[in-house]
Formats: sequence, C-alpha cells, structure tokens
Amino acid sequence: KIYYDNDANLDVLKDKTIVFLGFGNQGAAQAQNLRDSGIPNDKIIIANRPDHYAEDAKSKGFNVEHDFAKAAKAADVVFLLIPDQVQPRVFNNEVAPNLKDNAAIVVASGYNVFYKLLNFKPSQDVVMVAPRMIGSSVRSLYTKGKGFPCFVSVEQDGTGKALEIALALSRAIGATKAGAIASSAREETAMDLFAEQALWPNIIMLFREAFSVLKEAGCSDEALCYEMWMSKEPAEIFERAAEDGFIQQLKHHSTVSQYGQLSGALALDGKQAREHFKNILYNQVLNGKFCQEFSKIEADLEKEGDANPLNVLYQKSEETELGQAEKRVRARLAGLLQAE
Ligand code: NDP
Repeated sequence: KIYYDNDANLDVLKDKTIVFLGFGNQGAAQAQNLRDSGIPNDKIIIANRPDHYAEDAKSKGFNVEHDFAKAAKAADVVFLLIPDQVQPRVFNNEVAPNLKDNAAIVVASGYNVFYKLLNFKPSQDVVMVAPRMIGSSVRSLYTKGKGFPCFVSVEQDGTGKALEIALALSRAIGATKAGAIASSAREETAMDLFAEQALWPNIIMLFREAFSVLKEAGCSDEALCYEMWMSKEPAEIFERAAEDGFIQQLKHHSTVSQYGQLSGALALDGKQAREHFKNILYNQVLNGKFCQEFSKIEADLEKEGDANPLNVLYQKSEETELGQAEKRVRARLAGLLQAE
C-alpha cells in the first residue's frame, strides 16, 4: 500500500506539542519541513545538548530545550532523530520515564524497535516514518515542492489512532507527496542491514578482486581507478537504473557492452551468493546476532585510535591493494592540481 497526501489529515496534529530529539541530518530537515507545512513554531521543540546542533536550531528560529526530561514531559509526539546506537541509552534513561502515557514515538529506522531495545508503555503509539534519503535531500526535495521515498508503519497502536498520526506526520514532513510506502520495522531493518552486511560488502569485495586481477594483467593504478569508479560511471549507471529501469538502462551502453553484461550475468547461476545472502539474512540479521555483537562494541565507537573498532576496520581496508593504489593516485592528482 502507498499513502498519498489525501490519505493524511494534518488536523490530527492540532494542539499537539512535537519534540524532535536531535537536529542532525534528519532532525534538521524534518523539523523545518514540518514547520513549513503549517505546524506552529511554538508547538515544536528541538531537544538537543548545548552545542553547534542546538545553535543551528536556534539560528533557524526553533525553540531549543537542553533538558531532555523537560522536553519529554511536554511532548505529545517525539521524533527520535539521534544516531541509532545511542537511542536506547538516551531514550530509556532520559525520555521514556518522562513521556505521557498516550505519547506517540516516531522512529526513522526500524532497528531499535525491531530488536526491542526501546522501552515503550503499551498505551503509547510507536510509528516508523523512515525517509529513504539523506536529510539534505529530504529538505531540498520538500523546498522544491517534491516528495521523497519513505517507509511508514505502525509498530504499536496504544491509542487506536497511531496510523492517523503516522500519516499526518508523514505528510507534514513531505513524505506522502510522492507516496509513503507501507512497511514495517522488520522489513526496513531486514533490507537495510542486508544491504549493509551482504550486498555492499560483496560489491566492495568484487571491486577489490577485480582491481587485483586487472593490476596483475598490467593495468595501471590510474587507469583502473578511473575506469572503475573515479570517472563516476558506476554512479551514472545507478542513476540510469533508477530512471529507466535496472535492465533497461543497459540500452545506454554500447552493443558489445550490452551483450557482454547480459550474457555474463545470465551465465552466473548465483547459487553460492544466494546461500551466502541467506546465511547473513537469517543467521546474522533476523536472528539478532549482529545486533547483540554490535551492542558489545557500541561504546568503543566513541574512542580514539586503535581502541575504536571502526578505525581498525578502516586501517585494514586502506591496506588492501585497491586502498593503497587509490592513495597513490589521489596524492599524485593533488600534486598535479597544486602544480597547476
Ligand atoms: P545524526 O548523526 O545526524 O544525529 C545527530 C544528532 O544526534 C544531533 O542532534 C546530535 O546532537 C544528536 N546526538 C548524537 N549523539 C547524541 C547523544 N549521545 N545524546 C544525545 N544526542 C545525541 O543522525 P541521523 O539524522 O543520521 O539519524 C537519525 C535517525 O534517522 C536514525 O534513526 C537513522 O537511522 C535515521 N535515518 C538517517 C538517514 C540519514 O540519511 N542519515 C536516512 C534515513 C533514516 P549532539 O551531538 O549535540 O548531542
């Protein structure tokens, strides 16, 4: 099901105080869109620690509250727009104990709801309004009068009005203009984590191995980096795929290329990839194994140097043949630009 503007009634938000917890990528975009849709500024509170995000919100004319407990007490609706990994700690300790029994909680990602990491009261509404776009596009598409793809769902219907509220909020942030797709926290989490843990790692691996094989065959670092991604050809292919269709975009390529790509893809049976994908989906994502493991290292992600596991992963990835070659090419390129 796809919901459009005329499925949503902004009147259900009348007199409701709407709190945005976080004014980052999504928070800044969604709060501005909602206000521009006619929600009065004095009904919107930005809850943020006192720093540059808070200053940004103030400079845009919003009311900012640094005390999360105070903001939570006033909220009829609270958007959780802080990073997923910090939501359980901040929400459960500072927000949840102060929320009204009939408050609506809005998440922009299914992760913490699907893995049951947030403490809600059964009387509260829990909805997902999850844009499929980065925050700057959520804002720029809205200002251009266009919509953006978004998933919407009701995860808990404490008041019996959760869908009405989810749709009104979707419309207010500009998501029903292009059509908000009915989904669920489970579906959103499965697709998101699958893409992140199965699809894209394979794409990174394919580029890494392709680079290595072509390098062994005598291709230069410069030629490879440009041929494979620095020319932006892959970006253009995906843009065409979004516009013309995943298969139909091939018609923009040469006949030799079309023949090679179509026959090559059909010749690969994909059995091994399918088994690998299923393993990740069922034994890592849907069964919660990744979530459990990630929560063990989550606190380390704020550490410096090698104590931060993400830094170690970056280091290892930069050490690959592709990583090293690209560093050399970019350094040479920077030198050439400087010389000019
Ligand atoms: P950001 O990383 O942009 O969030 C930054 C905001 O979170 C700032 O207001 C920051 O304020 C606050 N914040 C960060 N750490 C803490 C903390 N420990 N305590 C309190 N506040 C904190 O988040 P996004 O907008 O990227 O993501 C928000 C939600 O939107 C997530 O659920 C994400 O999955 C979802 N989403 C994100 C998309 C994207 O494009 N980024 C796309 C679709 C959905 P300060 O540091 O001052 O406290």
